[in-house]
Amino acid sequence: MSTTNHSCGTTTPGHPSPDELAERRQRRLEQILRRRERLACIAVERMSHDLPDSHDYVLEQLQLEQSIQHCWPEVYDRLLDTWVMEDVSRMHTSDRPLPGCGICIATTAVGRISARPPWETAA
Ligand SMILES: [Zn+2]
Repeated sequence: MSTTNHSCGTTTPGHPSPDELAERRQRRLEQILRRRERLACIAVERMSHDLPDSHDYVLEQLQLEQSIQHCWPEVYDRLLDTWVMEDVSRMHTSDRPLPGCGICIATTAVGRISARPPWETAA
């Protein structure tokens, strides 16, 4: 019969060890932090361009941050100030575009496209 003695570090097959659980938890945290970063970038970009769905992204970002606060309170406390500073630093307007903003890049590229054929604009 297979038994478990977790206090000495052995495990029953199919049951993760404390180290494995800690590693999974760390991977999950890193995954959530990457998702939070992507969401924050999208939310700020969309807010900066006054897009109507920006609030949806902000709400999703806040919900994710609440999950982090609940499951990893020490991480939340350590990163909250940085998040706020980064989000504020990304705010911009259309007339003051932010390098790296996908919407600025797209609208600038569209603005450079001429509807007139090149032989008409050369004169
Ligand atoms: Zn932009």
